[in-house]
Amino acid sequence: MLLRHTTAEVTERTALTINPAKTCQPIGAMYAALGVHGCLPHSHGSQGCCSYHRSTLTRHYKEPVMAATSSFTEGSSVFGGQANLLQAFETIFTVYNPDIVAVHTTCLSETIGDDISQIISKAKADGKIPEGKHAIHANTPSYVGSHITGFANMAKSLVTNFAEGTGEDKKQINLLPGWVEPPDMRELKCLAHRMGVDVIMFPDTSDVLDAPQTGKHELYPKGGATVAQIRSAGDSIGTIGLGHSASTRAASALEEKCEVANEMLELPIGLQATDRLIEAMRVMAGVKVPDIITDERGRLLDMIADMHQYIHGKRVALWGDPDQLVSLCDFLVCLDMKPVYILTGTPSTRFEKRVRAVLGDSVPDVKIRKGSGADMFLMHQWIKQESVDLLIGNTYGKYIARDENIPFVRHGFPILDRVGHAYFPTVGYRGGMYLLEKILNAFMDRQDREALEEKFELTM
Ligand code: SF4
Repeated sequence: MLLRHTTAEVTERTALTINPAKTCQPIGAMYAALGVHGCLPHSHGSQGCCSYHRSTLTRHYKEPVMAATSSFTEGSSVFGGQANLLQAFETIFTVYNPDIVAVHTTCLSETIGDDISQIISKAKADGKIPEGKHAIHANTPSYVGSHITGFANMAKSLVTNFAEGTGEDKKQINLLPGWVEPPDMRELKCLAHRMGVDVIMFPDTSDVLDAPQTGKHELYPKGGATVAQIRSAGDSIGTIGLGHSASTRAASALEEKCEVANEMLELPIGLQATDRLIEAMRVMAGVKVPDIITDERGRLLDMIADMHQYIHGKRVALWGDPDQLVSLCDFLVCLDMKPVYILTGTPSTRFEKRVRAVLGDSVPDVKIRKGSGADMFLMHQWIKQESVDLLIGNTYGKYIARDENIPFVRHGFPILDRVGHAYFPTVGYRGGMYLLEKILNAFMDRQDREALEEKFELTM
């Protein structure tokens, strides 16, 4: 009874958020920066902020997440952090030798108004950034937006700092993956490879946050998009941006800077969203869909058909990031399930409209909330009013799951108390099968747990 004070009656709140369905902007910027090879993220603010961002990523990925900090003191909080950042550049390049330092701001440095572009220019003029090395930045004030906004801002910064159009037509496609997990990024590259499409993907955290255990710690693991790859994105045939909240800024910046046209798609979670990605790659690159991908699709379809009786009509509550939620709803509707409560703490202009379009007439009484008022307290209140069959969201739903005895599939960020998300994809057809397996097993585990003796079945 951890949440025993939650009441079913909803009182509208304007100045209070309880257990927000989001985290802070710099976490997203840090995650995006880790998707660049040889990059050290740098948090321009206090040590506490940096510790929180690093520890949240470390707990989610079970990997040591490296990042530096400007270590603001009382003095820098009053007079600004220029001196700290200049000293940081000198120390970082001397001691840790990254190729790139990716600076993101925090609430404190944004409130002070530190001009990071000016500080980087001064650092270059003062010779604190060695020849051939780079310092870039993104503004990530956490009192607006969420971790997704921070990710989008840093992805855009990669484009504005590195992408170049040289006039050479490269037979490659840019794939902006949005905020997905390292195994998802690996799966996206695998799909492209199987179709015979050369892709430049950034950020790319595969082989960074899921690098193989070799017995030797690498400060800069082998993964991540290289500067040369991001630079060449300006010469690609086109860009496919996945997830409107996380990828639109980078895709638009690339179009504006290098005239590389983009096509924005939803995250390829589930059957139909993956179909749309495969079709977009097929058309953009002028290739054929190989049998191996058609067969994978067929296996997912077969699994859906075989298991339909366990999931049909089930009511689902979901929370998390808008890009994930839109695609999850699409998949759940395809499974004949009913997403009835959906909320995200991330502000998004298209989220609610798109979710309603995806749901169509299938869930007429759906409750949707976004932005600062969308929190886990409200989700619990909705569930107390009328319960659901399944919860899908990040770790913070475990209190509701326990209190209300509802099966719970962990999906999204952060997941601090289960494994799998850092190793197995949920995008693509194979990812769809993994996600469906988790959903089905959650229902079957409950059935086994609660079945009467005379109804307890070996075969299900
Ligand atoms: S919300 Fe602001 S103050 Fe808190 S950890 Fe994030 S950047 Fe730091």
